Order: sequence, then C-alpha cells, then structure tokens
Amino acid sequence: MSSTISESQLEARLLAEARARRQAFWHSLLALDARLAAELHRLPPDEWADVAALAAYPQLHTHLKALRQVDAALCQWQLGLYGLCSDCEAELTPEQLWQDPCRQRCAPCEEKYRKAQHGAWEL
Ligand SMILES: [Zn+2]
Repeated sequence: MSSTISESQLEARLLAEARARRQAFWHSLLALDARLAAELHRLPPDEWADVAALAAYPQLHTHLKALRQVDAALCQWQLGLYGLCSDCEAELTPEQLWQDPCRQRCAPCEEKYRKAQHGAWEL
C-alpha cells in the first residue's frame, strides 16, 4: 500500500483550497459590505488581499491572512518552488502538503518560527 500523492493531486488540492478560502472570504465580505464585495468580484482573486478598503474591516483579518497564504502558495507553484520550506528550502513531504496545502515550513523551522512569534507577542 503506497501513500504516494501525485503532483497533479497536490495541485488539485491547492486549487480547491484557494477556491474554498476565496469563497469563504468573499461571503464574509458580502455580509459586511455588499458594494465592496461586488467591486472585488470584478478583480482577479489574487489581487483581493491588496485592496486597501478592506482595512476598514478588522473582522476580516483572519480571512485575509488565509487569502495571502493561499496566494503565496499558488505563486510558489507557478515558480516551481511549491513545497519547499521558506526558511531552509528543505522539501516538504506530499503528506504534509496534502494536510495543509499552504504549509510554508518544515517541522523544525515551523517550531522556531512559532517560538519567535510567541516571543514577539510577549514583548
Ligand atoms: Zn525548514
């Protein structure tokens, strides 16, 4: 029994994740500001996170973060850099990417990163 996940499966997984995150974001925005939501709909989805007017809605912060993560992952896919740890460039396993298509770091770097973030919050 092989658990090998193919590249095309990972790509489909990433695209599905992008769709899901964009949809969730857009519906939350629609509930807050229908006019802005309609404006965004006319833009390419990878530009949504950069729309300045969104800063008026701090409640969208988590959604925006999720959008930026998936935009970055899609960009890495296009550049052929998908699945590499952003800190040490180690290859992430297909299983790790399947679990979280937007994963940016290998386990040791993720731990270091979290500790650094935690430290920053404490200051
Ligand atoms: Zn790493």
